Amino acid sequence: MSDPLPSSAPVRTVGILGGGQLGRMLALAGARLGLKSLVYCPDAESPAFDVAADHVCAAYEDEAALADFAARVDVVTYEFENVPAATAAFLDARVPVRPGARSLAVSQDRLSEKTFLAELGIPTAPFRAVDTLDDLTAAIAEIGFPAVLKTRRFGYDGKGQVKITDPDDLAHAFEAMKGAPAILEGWVPFRREISVLTARGLDGRSVTFDVPENEHSRHILKYSRVPADLRAETRDRAMAIGEAVANALGHVGVVAVELFLLETPDGERLVANEIAPRVHNSGHWTESACLVSQFEAHMRAVAGLPLSPPIRHSDVVMENLIGDEARDPERVLAEEGASLHLYGKAEIRPGRKMGHVNRIRPRSDRR
Ligand code: AMP
Repeated sequence: MSDPLPSSAPVRTVGILGGGQLGRMLALAGARLGLKSLVYCPDAESPAFDVAADHVCAAYEDEAALADFAARVDVVTYEFENVPAATAAFLDARVPVRPGARSLAVSQDRLSEKTFLAELGIPTAPFRAVDTLDDLTAAIAEIGFPAVLKTRRFGYDGKGQVKITDPDDLAHAFEAMKGAPAILEGWVPFRREISVLTARGLDGRSVTFDVPENEHSRHILKYSRVPADLRAETRDRAMAIGEAVANALGHVGVVAVELFLLETPDGERLVANEIAPRVHNSGHWTESACLVSQFEAHMRAVAGLPLSPPIRHSDVVMENLIGDEARDPERVLAEEGASLHLYGKAEIRPGRKMGHVNRIRPRSDRR
């Protein structure tokens, strides 16, 4: 589809692929801008359906439903990177899909992602493609122990990955990939994890949010803290990485880059792990601590509206409420300085993200 959209055709309705909490928060942010959202998701109990102007409940392969969806929206965006390429192409022939095909293709495959980062000169863990047990043996000989074998596609929150610490692990690790193409990565002895979120507009201008430090529990994000305990030059380097990635992808919308922070004798070093071509859990703090949230920035960008510098007015700690942690919302509601966001999911399940809390304090630094 030809981009940019002619100025005579303002975006009024945004189609959102995916009806989870991210889609829900995008629809809410869009509504504040006067945008209507049409959410497309195969799951009838999608949390985003509750807050959107309308929804389509159909499979991502259902071309009749997709054609109808495309006819009802001015632009399509998505809340998850595993949108099937055929779905994105089918829609893009009818209406602009933002972010575009390159952002999806690069981030759907860990090998393309790492190759893309390396070509930009952004450090990553050493990596090799692994399709056979022989490939794995050869790759481990080059990369060494410990290492981590991951499926190239469809992995998240630590799923589809196995740590390899000695030669006896190889066959078992390879079997765990269940025949799927894989990537072997060298183990990064990181001290902490941070991320960077950049929003890039249709005009190619980008803005980058302050950098959160992220703490995981059982492979699921638990806390994001801003400001992160980082040297100023490390923070600036992380922000430059976000901008370089957004520009090189020709991205429109928010893109998140997950980074490992290492302490070396030469100082702090950053190693990029993953690109998410969408709003990200480590950006939920922006809802309460910034004038414009990541969700609003994304909706502005995909609708061709101006972005503004993401002013952070508060310090903040975002806490994910996972499973049973969401059983007692009153406790959080009564807390001073805490802002609760529940996703309206029908059922509490272990490991399920049910909501988050942003706890803010007056800003401590002057940057
Ligand atoms: P991922 O699915 O790639 O985001 O990985 C999930 C988590 O596993 C990361 O947040 C890290 O904590 C850990 N991890 C992934 N890759 C590596 C690596 N190459 N070295 C060390 N830890 C890793």
